[in-house]
Amino acid sequence: MAEQLTPMEMAQSQLKAAAEKLDLDKGVLEMLLEPQRVVIVRIPVKMDNGTTRVFTGYRSQHSDAIGPAKGGVRFHPDVSLDEVMALSFWMTFKCGVVGLPYGGGKGGVAVNPKELSQAELERLSRGYVRALYDVLGSEKDIPAPDVYTNAQIMSWMMDEYSVIRRYTDFGMITGKPIVLGGSKGRSEATARGVVVTTLEAIKKMNMHISDATVAIQGFGNAGSVAANILYNLGAKIVAISDSKGAVYSENGLDPKALEKHKDETGSVVGFLGGRDIAGGELLELPVDILIPAALEKVITEDNAPYIKAKIVAEAANGPTMPKADEILNKNGVLVIPDILCNAGGVTVSYFEWVQNNYGYYWSEDEVNSRLTEKMQDAFFSVWQMSTEYNTDMRTAAYMVAVKRISEAIKLRGWV
Ligand code: NAD
Repeated sequence: MAEQLTPMEMAQSQLKAAAEKLDLDKGVLEMLLEPQRVVIVRIPVKMDNGTTRVFTGYRSQHSDAIGPAKGGVRFHPDVSLDEVMALSFWMTFKCGVVGLPYGGGKGGVAVNPKELSQAELERLSRGYVRALYDVLGSEKDIPAPDVYTNAQIMSWMMDEYSVIRRYTDFGMITGKPIVLGGSKGRSEATARGVVVTTLEAIKKMNMHISDATVAIQGFGNAGSVAANILYNLGAKIVAISDSKGAVYSENGLDPKALEKHKDETGSVVGFLGGRDIAGGELLELPVDILIPAALEKVITEDNAPYIKAKIVAEAANGPTMPKADEILNKNGVLVIPDILCNAGGVTVSYFEWVQNNYGYYWSEDEVNSRLTEKMQDAFFSVWQMSTEYNTDMRTAAYMVAVKRISEAIKLRGWV
């Protein structure tokens, strides 16, 4: 039977592997295995029809050892305490691996936002900030968009926070529209980071991007931007999927034409520039690079033995189950772990916060070149660690982050 782990158990098992290699102090490990603070709130919202609905909201702050907590707010019916805790946990290590001066946070509301009117959504967003005002702030915990939250919701949250504080505080949240202190390059940042780390991995495998074939699971923000950048660099994108199915062409797909088809029909399925295949088939295609950019837990012990890609670049959070990881490592697949691969998004969120604090805004070129430098440095640190300790890239990424955080915890005198 396939592994049954909660997101929190999955996160903890990844940390324990790194802790063992580093012979980590038991006190530090104890500190990091659970979030430092979890807040659960009830948010009453007056509905348009005059009734009141009460939603449950969460904020988990996993660690503030090296800086304020940082992480998105998710509006989704399946949001749960365990999920929010695990996501905040991953944020600590994601920020740690890139060397951002942040700890991990994450929040959410159990709600189906598609059932709410815009006015109800605004009242819910403002209610979330009112309920959590005391634990949020640019020096405490800085939210951002996540599943089903966007720049408009960030604007309402920033405004509500500013109304309570009696002055405009752009730096309390990131992922805002440009006019309200957002950063240029934020929406493409995750995919850019995925591409930068993939290019570094390609060099290590003595391959060349213009000879590489790529399959991408998911054609949303991360997947579609990554497809376009890789295509423009000369890679051959042979397969792309979305929630309805997948399309394949051994001669390569044109992502721009595919985007147009998806806009017109609602899916990549039926694209005339390729032929339809089953979504699951995409993962097992004979390609050089596989980019899971959709959901968690898609690479399992059942399909891992059939994965033929030389590089798996985890744009999605948590796409690979621990047992699948072991199989991929044994088969010599180079996995660029999520906490490294998709850290471009939080890196440009950090740039947004820096620009807010400075009140001086950078050009898109400046954002992109700083992002490239940070992601290359992070890849290099993880690669070095993996070579030095003869371990896989995921464990090495945790080790890079854990070393930084552990040093901070000890210097602060917590342990
Ligand atoms: P998105 O909602 O824009 O896109 C998700 C895509 O996945 C859609 O094309 C959807 O159709 C597709 N999808 C859903 N179910 C699928 C299935 N069963 N098979 C194939 N495709 C399926 O989301 P996004 O922002 O691109 O995020 C994708 C992943 O990347 C998530 O795991 C997210 O946590 C992670 N991530 C995103 C960012 C970011 O800044 N956008 C940052 C870090 C991590």
